[in-house]
Amino acid sequence: INKDLDSLRSLPCITLDGHHLPLWVNTGLIADVQRAQQRGAEGVGLYRSEVAFMGTSRFPSESEQVQMYREQLQAFHPLPVTMRTLDIGGDKPLSYFPIKESNPYLGWRGIRITLDHPEIFLVQVRAMIKASVGLNNLHILLPMISGVHELDDAQHLIHRAWAELINEGFAVQMPPVGVMIEVPSAVYQARELARMADFLSVGSNDLTQYLLAVDRNNARVADLYDYLHPAVLMALKEVVSAAQAEGKKVSICGEMAGDPVAAVLLMAMGFDSLSMNSTHLPKVKWLLRKMTLQHAQELLSEVSSMDNPELIHSTLNLALGNLG
Ligand code: PEP
Ligand code: MG
Repeated sequence: INKDLDSLRSLPCITLDGHHLPLWVNTGLIADVQRAQQRGAEGVGLYRSEVAFMGTSRFPSESEQVQMYREQLQAFHPLPVTMRTLDIGGDKPLSYFPIKESNPYLGWRGIRITLDHPEIFLVQVRAMIKASVGLNNLHILLPMISGVHELDDAQHLIHRAWAELINEGFAVQMPPVGVMIEVPSAVYQARELARMADFLSVGSNDLTQYLLAVDRNNARVADLYDYLHPAVLMALKEVVSAAQAEGKKVSICGEMAGDPVAAVLLMAMGFDSLSMNSTHLPKVKWLLRKMTLQHAQELLSEVSSMDNPELIHSTLNLALGNLG
């Protein structure tokens, strides 16, 4: 089967009935890039910029950041690279930016920090845009957006960074700006967010955690953490239809996208691309190439009527197990 997976590398992710679903990768360090390319990714759906920040002893300067980002953009050019702005807080601490909170997942995280510290945000966004000069494959993604006001504020800052660079003589396009849907309130505002943004990307790791009120890293409640829970599936469908209603693309970049069984449902829902850890990419591609979109849609409608997560799992495993 490994040889089988190897030969998959150069093949696109197309179902038996001709539906093309681009598979993207999640990256952090430059080492992830090579692995992703070996696996035949069609782009980067999530570059976690905080990973590089976690490996330094102070905030990297603008020019240091330009260098980091350019490496990523260049490696995949002309394929799209989606760079998420700093998503620290929660489970991602920075030694040189200590945060003490009793409830970090509900605290100062992601966009909340960078909107409170526009100087950090502006330097990062300037570096991203500068790094994309001559490449123009940069997409910017905003983490932990919980309402339209945050998107509005972030868009103003991004526009300001871009305008500064234009004034400084850099010939560079304004990058598309997307919103992560990972806070339940954003699901209910997905339509408005989709209207304002250029694209959406679901963060199913946090969305599952917040919808089910289950800590994503707590082993004691791990069996309650389930992205195939009917409530999560319903939320995902809502987000896809909101994006479609506004004519915007919607992707998903949580761990769920790298689970072949879940990927089948996500394709059926209408996600435009799936972004995953590159380790999982060959398995997902292998399965999707073995089935039809129509079969996936039938499975989705079958499990959509189920209110028991266990039954959803067993139905999918039974149906897809037959394929190998
Ligand atoms: C997510 O929440 O699903 C996600 C992709 O972001 P992270 O895992 O980095 O929080
Ligand atoms: Mg997240």
